Amino acid sequence: MGSGSASPNVLSFEAAAELVAARAAQLMRVRPAVERVQLGRAAGRVFAEGLRADSDQPPFARSTRDGFACRATEASKHRALAVAGSIRAGEAPAGPLPPGAVWEIMTGAPVPAGADAVIMLEYVEAGGNPAERTIRLPAERAIQKGENIVARGAQARKGDQLLPVGTPIGAGQIALAASCGCAELKVFARPRVAILATGDELVTINSKPGPGQIRNSSNAMLAAMVEAAGGEPWLLPIARDTAKALDAALARAAEADLLLITGGVSAGKFDLVEPALARTGARFHFTGVRIQPGKPLVFGDRPVKEARMSKTRRGRQCFFGLPGNPVSSAVTFLLFGAPVLAALAGRLHRGPRFALARLAENVKAKPGLTRFLPAACTFSGSAPQVQPVAWQGSGDLAAMARANCFLVVPEEADRIKAGEIVRILLI
Ligand code: AMP
Ligand code: MG
Repeated sequence: MGSGSASPNVLSFEAAAELVAARAAQLMRVRPAVERVQLGRAAGRVFAEGLRADSDQPPFARSTRDGFACRATEASKHRALAVAGSIRAGEAPAGPLPPGAVWEIMTGAPVPAGADAVIMLEYVEAGGNPAERTIRLPAERAIQKGENIVARGAQARKGDQLLPVGTPIGAGQIALAASCGCAELKVFARPRVAILATGDELVTINSKPGPGQIRNSSNAMLAAMVEAAGGEPWLLPIARDTAKALDAALARAAEADLLLITGGVSAGKFDLVEPALARTGARFHFTGVRIQPGKPLVFGDRPVKEARMSKTRRGRQCFFGLPGNPVSSAVTFLLFGAPVLAALAGRLHRGPRFALARLAENVKAKPGLTRFLPAACTFSGSAPQVQPVAWQGSGDLAAMARANCFLVVPEEADRIKAGEIVRILLI
């Protein structure tokens, strides 16, 4: 650790994840500001108000098939039944259904009063003549009461809460809100996430690196990840590896709801981030996690002046000092940064997304470190199958770009064999 600003506190992966989850739960107690958005622009946002049904859903007993509305007991006698009328989607409910009759009905139409089932068009034998049509259910077919009908209110009753505050908004939630007549939604304001790259070797992505220089690639990646996790990325200019440059950058970043710093947190001579944070009054929750990549991860919070904040919690701003290598930044953000950001965004579900898959080849482990190896998982077979991507360490962007997950190798494992079921962290 740099010039020793905080006593080292290196946790296991599980302990660090628990600590972050507990912090995130605390942050959730303060609700973000509320704003209104058009429904069409609500994807990726979070409900700031529960969604309630404005009427019964469906609002009338609805046929799910083209066919004939009937009384199941009558149709089950397999006798010819007169077609008493016809109704299609968009027409007002008809009926009552006369005894011994059926009513022609189209998908989405209200079921006529008196009918309790719909026989599919494909399943009837037509008879009679054009003036007096009849249909009959053939002997080999059966029909049950309720078949092919969704009863009024079966999905929801008027006034029911359909979705709680904090539900992330995607396509399904937008459809439901539309069905309730919401052209606009109340959503939580997105947390502003400052992303600060540090390093004397870094140049902007539109410049040509000189000898010994590299482009600042991890910040563009983090901006994409922040956006996907519900935050508003704020890319700060690259800070050089001097105390003065870091102090100025950290002062500027105080306006953000969350601060992500990359680089400068390992044990090198120019790893000056921790001392700079300490000068701003930071508390460090941990200064390392026994994971690979990502070991030098730093998590803490620091006081920031209330007047300068948009939505920061109780005058303190959470920060992560992410290791500079892009693969390390990606893993540590997914595991620890994203849950904190989700909490600041008011999202109910915050954890990283893990899944199970079958391992395609033997994998070596490093006992003492939980490893997260870039891997490609295929979901097309009978079960997900995962294979590590060949990589040259945590600066290997090409390897990460070919991966769609990270294979989790537990701390206590000494190797994992092909065919075993393993955990993967979805990107
Ligand atoms: P550091 O954590 O500062 O010791 O950096 C570790 C490694 O990551 C070094 O090889 C850096 O050049 C590289 N690195 C640091 N920041 C970035 C960045 N923003 N984009 C790409 N690589 C970076
Ligand atoms: Mg550096």
